[in-house]
Amino acid sequence: MTKKTDQRPDTLVVTAGRDPHANFGMINPPVYHASTILHPTLEILKSKGQPYTYGRHGSPTATALRESISALEGGHNTLLTASGVAAVTTALMAHLKSGDHLLMVDTVYGPTRGFCDKMLPRMGVEVTYYDPHVGAGIAALMQPNTTVVYVESPGSNTFEIQDMPAIAAAAHAGGAIVIADNTYGSGFYFKPLAHGADISIQAVTKYLCGHSDVMMGSITANEATWPQTSFIYTKLGQSVAPDDIYLVLRGLRTLSVRLERHMKTSIALARWLETRPEVARVIHPALESHPDHALWKRDFTGACGLFSFVLKPYSDEALAAMLDGMELMGMGYSWGGFESLIVPQELKGNRTATPTDLGGQLIRIHAGLEDVEDLKEDLAAGFARLHAAGA
Ligand SMILES: *Cc1c(COP(=O)(O)O)cnc(C)c1O
Repeated sequence: MTKKTDQRPDTLVVTAGRDPHANFGMINPPVYHASTILHPTLEILKSKGQPYTYGRHGSPTATALRESISALEGGHNTLLTASGVAAVTTALMAHLKSGDHLLMVDTVYGPTRGFCDKMLPRMGVEVTYYDPHVGAGIAALMQPNTTVVYVESPGSNTFEIQDMPAIAAAAHAGGAIVIADNTYGSGFYFKPLAHGADISIQAVTKYLCGHSDVMMGSITANEATWPQTSFIYTKLGQSVAPDDIYLVLRGLRTLSVRLERHMKTSIALARWLETRPEVARVIHPALESHPDHALWKRDFTGACGLFSFVLKPYSDEALAAMLDGMELMGMGYSWGGFESLIVPQELKGNRTATPTDLGGQLIRIHAGLEDVEDLKEDLAAGFARLHAAGA
């Protein structure tokens, strides 16, 4: 089977990483379970003359997913980790050493911040948090020892869009590399490497898996950063189970249709929430009301199911009455699965360079694959409970 190059994303999620005729014509790759891999001769063993040498170093199952994500992200090569957080920490450790300085976006995913605050100081790495709207102004924050500028766009829970090309230009001018958390864009609606980043990481746990049943992360590097990234990854002993990889490969094939529905439903819910008297503000980058909407339109080709809104002031009891009684929207962390989720979020303790008081309770929604009218009814009933419990 010959493969058309430069495929569009919808086609790519179907074809990437697949080679049916290497597997008796079977459309999906086999799940290879392995620790020991045998070598037929001493010469082959000594010269590392076969593609797979030990379970931790890879298998055809892992290669299929690694190649798929590399193709989606437009990167040189991809590593798989046991969680999204492991992808973040591995990428950071690969490019930071004692005495280095890290510029970290203030609106970063909470556990990433936890690693920067609790682990990096133990390694002698200095961290400065910057405003996501810094743009080219990042140049003023660069120090001679700044080796990594970390971006996450949109920002966690508050969805600020970063000017990645401007940030990358300044970072590179100062001799730093750019690492991007691309979990929101999924390598589908945003391609950090095409916008100046050197490394794109994802919580594969979210949309690539898509079914709330696997923990995994990915690190996609460009050619320049690949050797150091893969070197440290190997030293840290990272390895991912083949059954989990298979589930992600299965999820990946429907990524484009799932994301399309997540986007459509999240935009419809966000617009509906903007008309509700209980809501102070909706934060969704695809809405014209979003302060960074123009930047989102310039760099992203779509939005996913995740967005937030700020509730007008209500009592804790009223909020509990609303959230405890939801029928369809589950209350839980993570996102990217088929089921809709609703969860209150706290910024306090997680921000030092941007405001934490938004004037009301921040609530994050993940729009799942249910009928949007059922989701609106679920929310409307929740607002009725909010009022019934008293303000
Ligand atoms: C969930 C998430 C992670 C971490 O992924 P896990 O698989 O839960 O470890 C990292 N970054 C972002 C933006 C996330 O949403």
